[in-house]
Amino acid sequence: MTADAAVRSGPPRVAIVGRQNVGKSTLLNRLLGRREAIAHAAPGVTRDRLEREVSWRGRRFVAIDTGGYMGRPTGIDELVTKQADRAMEQADAVVLVVDAAVGVQEEDAMLAKRLRRATVPVVVVANKVDAPAQDPLVGDLFRLGLGEPLPVSALHGRGSGELLDRIVSLLPEPEDRAAAEEDTTEPVFSIVGRPNVGKSSLFNRLVGADRSVVYEEAGTTRDSVDAVVDWDGKPVRFVDTAGLRRPSKEEGVSYYGFLRTVQAIDRSHVAALLVAANEGVTTEDRRIAARVEEAGRGLVVIANKWDLVPSEDRTDRFKLIRERVSVFPAVPVLRASALTGMGVGKVPGVLLATQEAWSKRVSTSEVNRAMEQAQNATPPPRQTGRIRYAAQVGTGPPRFVLFSSGPIPTAYARFIEHRLREAFDLTGVPIRLTFRRRRR
Ligand code: GDP
Repeated sequence: MTADAAVRSGPPRVAIVGRQNVGKSTLLNRLLGRREAIAHAAPGVTRDRLEREVSWRGRRFVAIDTGGYMGRPTGIDELVTKQADRAMEQADAVVLVVDAAVGVQEEDAMLAKRLRRATVPVVVVANKVDAPAQDPLVGDLFRLGLGEPLPVSALHGRGSGELLDRIVSLLPEPEDRAAAEEDTTEPVFSIVGRPNVGKSSLFNRLVGADRSVVYEEAGTTRDSVDAVVDWDGKPVRFVDTAGLRRPSKEEGVSYYGFLRTVQAIDRSHVAALLVAANEGVTTEDRRIAARVEEAGRGLVVIANKWDLVPSEDRTDRFKLIRERVSVFPAVPVLRASALTGMGVGKVPGVLLATQEAWSKRVSTSEVNRAMEQAQNATPPPRQTGRIRYAAQVGTGPPRFVLFSSGPIPTAYARFIEHRLREAFDLTGVPIRLTFRRRRR
């Protein structure tokens, strides 16, 4: 999300782009004109763009007709670039309208090229497909590289309900927008685990001797103190270091301790869960790991006290720990000893990489390319659906919506998740997939 978008509030914004005469305004009027869609002028309407608020099935968004950008007499390249760039910067989703009756023109291709970089969902509308007999026209628009085009007749209304359904399902939930606004802050980590597993020892190893560390009261709990450290010129935050320091021996596995852990997890992007390698993974450890997954935070497991594991047991112990802590696929597990310092050097890099995966944005074209490759390599089982269009709709953790022509069996959904993780390096983070059937 851009800085511009981060300070914005109000309903999500949907930009309608396309070259002249493809039917952008007719489409906008069609979206507004549906009996179920309530329209009125949104505040802040300016002369060079037309903004209208649309509500559909209880969701609201502002539709922006970007046609106004095209009005100035400049070179076509520049106009197209400007239109696409502004749409990408200012909208939460982009609708690219193409005239399917005339097929892909140079300007359409230029716009699509620009939009393939967009990290907000892009929907291609194949407009002027007035009757089912014309549906084959849609095929040509696949080559825009933005997933399956949606056949619509802005003039007659065909496909407009479908388009509205697709738009609202790709828009961020209101809570997501609040979360996205925090994107600009530094990476936030928590160090969690049972008492005595070595949390404060590890923290001291990581930042204790660092002169750049600044302690800040977090303001959530009265005695919650964060540490902000400089890692390679970049600030990172460790939450609730007071919680790490408090003498935890008497505390036991108390409710208070767990509550404090939960708060630390919720405030962080990535939780470093320490387990005592010499004791193995306990039920309490698993409970904490499960809570991290539920909260949608990144998870890095550190098998601490590795020095206490006899060398002949190490291979088996590592395998066992991995199996027991994997609350989702691809949870990184590091071996370390906060006592000797062994393995601690690897921790910052893995935490930072996990935070990056957690907040990663992938463009619609990349998502669709990955889905196409996955399905070509391993086609979905017969009698089930094929994924026609997919887009990332949120970060922290990554969220994707996938539209399919039929039901997607659980095993195949798992395969799809695996391919998304692989294609976009989504290691150490839970990912959320929503499958939707598209009606035809
Ligand atoms: P916390 O309650 O999780 O913060 O745990 P502490 O950091 O206070 O560590 C508890 C005890 O375990 C202390 O006596 C540490 O010296 C010891 N300890 C911590 N890390 C290691 C380690 O990697 N190896 C060994 N052998 N002992 C450790």
